[in-house]
Amino acid sequence: NKQVIFKDYFTGFPKESDMYLTTSTIKLKVPEGSNGVLLKNLYLSCDPVMRILMQRVVPKGFSNYTPDFKAGDLVWGSARWEEYSLITATEGLRKITHSDVPLSYYTGLLGMPGMTAYAGFHEVCSPKKGEYVFVSAASGAVGQLVGQFAKLLGCYVVGSAGSKEKVDLLKNKFGFDDAFNYKEEHDLDAALKRYFPEGIDIYFENVGGETLDAVLLNMRVHGRIALCGMISQYNLDQPEGVKNLMCLIYKRIHMTGFTVRDYYHLYPKFLDTVLPYIKEGKIAYVEDIAEGLESGPAALVGLFSGRNIGKQVVPLNGY
Ligand code: NDP
Repeated sequence: NKQVIFKDYFTGFPKESDMYLTTSTIKLKVPEGSNGVLLKNLYLSCDPVMRILMQRVVPKGFSNYTPDFKAGDLVWGSARWEEYSLITATEGLRKITHSDVPLSYYTGLLGMPGMTAYAGFHEVCSPKKGEYVFVSAASGAVGQLVGQFAKLLGCYVVGSAGSKEKVDLLKNKFGFDDAFNYKEEHDLDAALKRYFPEGIDIYFENVGGETLDAVLLNMRVHGRIALCGMISQYNLDQPEGVKNLMCLIYKRIHMTGFTVRDYYHLYPKFLDTVLPYIKEGKIAYVEDIAEGLESGPAALVGLFSGRNIGKQVVPLNGY
């Protein structure tokens, strides 16, 4: 059983050398009388949240319900980075009931990032047709979907991303109204004033730091900010201060942090909404494939330099 092992907690940016590849010869067997399952892993997911779990002190609130499984069931959820995983606590696994789509979608569009985009936008942002929406890390797993959910509702959507190729994807593939490369903007406040002369109603926050500060200056009265993630802060020993929080007061802005784990009760509704979108071609979805377990560490580290274009997936076991 080939495995990627995480060596030890660290500070700063993740490196490939924080992980190593090994082969375990331990025979995996579900203990008799337990509800455990033996998984053959088909696709692994690289998610920024994995960085947070790689630090010694994991913020409170990070740690997951139990269908009956039978041999041959397809599932998605939390497992280790290995070819086969013995799972004794199956609360983090969900049965896949629709397999007429690529199974890799359950690491993204139809899995955790998709639910994050759906719940974060529809439940946290209270969006209305015609509103002005800004999404950061917009070409990634979550961002590409937030922008498209917002377009499907009839919002005006602008995204930021870190390369020309990603900006082109946002405008030409995902249907954003506009997009810009934040790395080429020396003054983010000025950039946002250019893209949102009338201000921003909804900001879907994926990056934090100076982007959040600039957004605060450009929010409209009664705007909403969904704090989904702050990837620019995950590798810093000291998170950057946000200077413009006063804007929350005089613009009466709702800024709400959320984690997807509080919204899984909406998963059936989410599937009922999104599966038809996929079948009718109303949602575009881009994945970045890194073949095989050996590619996992570099793919994970790549999230923090923006190497991934779309959802980063690692197919295993010949998939
Ligand atoms: P992505 O697929 O978007 O990959 C990460 C992207 O972040 C990179 O491609 C890069 O894109 C961008 N990035 C990396 N470093 C920086 C930086 N310093 N400043 C600005 N952008 C940076 O990841 P996901 O879509 O999976 O996750 C997006 C966000 O959502 C993350 O913050 C994640 O932690 C959060 N999240 C939160 C959840 C929740 O329950 N609240 C659940 C799932 C995700 P670029 O080239 O554009 O810079």
